[in-house]
Parts: sequence; structure tokens; C-alpha cells
Amino acid sequence: MKQDLSLLIQALDSSISGIILTDNQQPDNPIIYCNKAFERITGYRRHEIIGHNCRFLQKEDRNQKERLVLRKAVDDGTECVVEMRNYQKNGTLFWNELYMSPIKDERGNVCYFIGVQNDITRRKKAEQELLHQQSVMEAQIQERTRSLRESEDYLSSIVQTVRESLVVLDPGFKVLSVNDHFLKTFKVTKEETEGKLLYELGNGQWDIVQLKELLESILPTNNPVEEFEVEHDFPHIGKKLMLLNAHRIELEGQYKDRILIAIEDITDRRELERRKDDFLSIASHELKTPLTTIKGYVQVMQRLLPETVSDKFKDILRKTGVYVERLNTLISELLDMSRIQTGNIELHKETFDFDRAIHEAVENIQTATKTHQIIIRGQATNSYTGDESHIVQVINNLLSNAIKYAPESGEVQVYLSRVSNYLKVSVSDKGMGIKIEDQKKIFDRFYRVGDIQQRFPGMGIGLYVCDQIIKNHGGTLWVESEPAQGSTFSFTLPLDERKSDEQ
Ligand code: ADP
Repeated sequence: MKQDLSLLIQALDSSISGIILTDNQQPDNPIIYCNKAFERITGYRRHEIIGHNCRFLQKEDRNQKERLVLRKAVDDGTECVVEMRNYQKNGTLFWNELYMSPIKDERGNVCYFIGVQNDITRRKKAEQELLHQQSVMEAQIQERTRSLRESEDYLSSIVQTVRESLVVLDPGFKVLSVNDHFLKTFKVTKEETEGKLLYELGNGQWDIVQLKELLESILPTNNPVEEFEVEHDFPHIGKKLMLLNAHRIELEGQYKDRILIAIEDITDRRELERRKDDFLSIASHELKTPLTTIKGYVQVMQRLLPETVSDKFKDILRKTGVYVERLNTLISELLDMSRIQTGNIELHKETFDFDRAIHEAVENIQTATKTHQIIIRGQATNSYTGDESHIVQVINNLLSNAIKYAPESGEVQVYLSRVSNYLKVSVSDKGMGIKIEDQKKIFDRFYRVGDIQQRFPGMGIGLYVCDQIIKNHGGTLWVESEPAQGSTFSFTLPLDERKSDEQ
């Protein structure tokens, strides 16, 4: 029996859990046994433990609600498990997972309690860290949600403020949302618009085959629709000209399957442009008539000039002739431009000796310029069918630009050649050159490169007219240039129209 007991005590001492026995029959339920692990966990020695109630482990930290659970289990004689903050002898906190179970006699009275304790400080710490981590993450999520909501509010306030009508479509071209400007412009309600197919809106104003094709290719190819004009008699607002731009929406990699359409009412703008063009056309016509008369009178005066007249008078008359001619060129440019704008440009096509025409044009310019030498090289063709006066106008324009924008250089080169079934003309100067960002724009109406405005006279029309003339002949005009190195303007014209039409 004694042997059994010592074996049992040895077994209890080798346990890694702290084990105690308390005597419930004595006042205040004192500890009557503790094993080695209990000493190790608590840091107290056996003689400091035996006879004490377990509560000494809580030191001053007495306000733990688990105590109530313990007390109730003692009162009821039941078992329980609690996790409590306990303190070692040296004051170090440790989390104690305490399992308490009653030992009863034959009559069912609780005589003892056995307590098994485990130091779970490490687990507790990990749990607390996890909790802390969770609360940090929750705070981050809240912050993120808040900033998302803010940016959503921010975006929607932009969408509502812009003076363009905006429509968001799903991949099936159903309207997901529209902004206020859309509703105001088309005088419709949200209910009439959202959830409907784009092509069903109004009286089918957007149901246009070409537009459909373009919109359908946006999502698969990410090619936007740019500057698509729709002229239509819209319900409620009548005949209007609308400009459409559509893009695939991409917001931080999201919403890749949505399309945003921006619609701008350009009816008034176009009308204004038309009136301005009309004005230019009328004004240049009105100016041209008296100017032709003045030009005629100057020529007559030059012819009838008596021998006796002073040199000063002769010089004044010559200068008058020069300025009248300059004015005439400017007004002709304006007239050409307004003819192009209104589609009234007439081509008088005839077969002529192209190379001869270019040589003659160069000679004419050469006689009028002392500052530059114009050199012609190569050959294109002696038989070309087109509008000779228009082609000569192009070469004159390119040459006078080459002279005007290369005041320091002294030489201009003209190169004639044949490339496949095209003729090619290049005019090169060694002048100021053109920045890459300006190279496309110089063919637009009225575009002049910013810093030359004051130094050189001009209206920014010449290249626009040249480009239109070359296009009317089925050719292309382009520039290659580098600032401070010079520019080469080239154009090609198809030699055999039948062949080029087929291409
Ligand atoms: P304009 O000469 O009356 O301004 P153009 O349409 O002929 O009008 O030319 C448009 C603009 O292109 C010019 O204002 C000038 O800035 C630029 N440009 C044209 N030709 C040349 C050139 N050879 N070298 C440099 N810049 C040029």
C-alpha cells in the first residue's frame, strides 16, 4: 500500500502540469498537497504552499470574474475549468489554466478538490497578439472602406459636375447609370434610361450600325471610340449634333467590363464655326473684287508712267505693286480655305508636263528671291493628269515657307523622283525646323508654331490648303524635321489613277 502511494507520488511529480489537492472539510479549503510542477510554475516552495487557499496566487489582482466560477464550483461540488491571471512568487504574471474537480466520499459529500494547472502564458500571449492583429486589421479595413467611400463620393461629385453627358454601360450595352447632365440634356428621367439597352433609348438615336460596331470592339480590343458625330432629331430636344467619345473604364484594375460614353452637344459650336467660315468667305470675296481693280490700276500706272517722273515716285509705285500682290496672295489663301471648307473647290484636271511645271515655278520664285538659291534635282514625270495651277500653288507655298523659315541658310533643294507608281516631290531647307509635337498640327487651319508668330508674316493657312490639294489628287503630304536642322516637306501623287483607286 505504502509502495503504491510512493509510486503515485512519483508519478504526480513527473507530471508537467501543476497538481494540488485541497481539503474541503477544513475551513477555507486549504491546499494539502502539491506536486513539483506546481512549485515550478508558481515559484513557491512546498512549505510556502501547503495550508494556503489557492487564492494567494492571485496576489492583489482579485477582481477576476473567473473567481465567481471557481467559488460556485466549490459551493456546488462540481468541476470547472478557468483561465486566470496568477502571479509567481517573484511577481511575474502567468496565465493559469486551472482544472478543478471534486473528490467525494461514499455519501456523496465533497471531501477534497483536485486542481490541475497549466501555464498557458505563451498561448495567451499568442491569442492576445492575434486579437491585437485582428483589431489593427479591422481598423485598416474601416479606414480603407472610408477612403473608398470618400473616393467614390469624390468621383461621383466629378461625374455629376462635368458639363458633359456621361453614360456607363455593361457588356451587354445596358445602361447602368447616367449623370445629371445627361438627364438635363436629353430631358429624360433616370427610370426611362437606367436598365434599358442603349439602342432602345429615346427614338433609337444611338441605334446606328457603325456606332454599334465601334462600341462592340471596345471591350475586347480596348480601342476607344473617338469623336463620333451623331446628327439626329431627338425626342423632346429636336435636331442636335452630338459628339461621342467612349472608353473602357478601368479603375485600379477594376470594372474592366464597363464602357463609359461621354456625349457633348456641339450643335451651337458647329453653327458658330459655320458662321465664322461664312463670314471669312464673304469677307474675302468682298475684299478680292476692289483689290483686283487696284492691282489693275497699279499695272496701268506703271505702264503709263512718264519718263520725267522722279525715281522716288517710281519706287513708291513699285512698292505699292509689291504690297498689293502680297495682299492679293493673302486674300487668295483665305478664299481657297473657305472654298475647301464649303466643299466648293473645283479641280480642273488636265494632262501636263509635271517636271516642266515645277521647273517654271522654281524659276519664278528664284527671280523674286535674292537671298536663297533653289536647286532642283531628279525627274518625276513629263505627263501627269491633275490640276496644274493647284499643284503649282503647293510647290510655291512649300518654297516660300522654305525661304521664309530658313532666313540664314541661303539654299533650298527640290528633289523630283518616282517611287513605284507615284511621283514624289521633296522641298528641303536648312532652317529653324519644327518640333515633333508641332509637326502634325501645322497642317491644321490657322496653326502657326508659337514662337514665330511675331517674326514672320502669315496666317497659318498655306499648309492646310496644300494638304487638301494633295489629298484631292489622291496623294499625301508630310514633313520630316528637326529643330535647328531644317525641314523636308514631301508629297506623293499617284501616277496611274486607275491603279491607285483599286488599292
Ligand atoms: P504660314 O506660313 O502663313 O504661317 P503655313 O500653313 O504655310 O502658314 O505654315 C504653318 C506653320 O508651319 C508656320 O507658321 C510655321 O510655324 C511652320 N512651318 C511651315 N513651313 C516651315 C518650314 N519650312 N520650316 C519651319 N517651319 C515651317
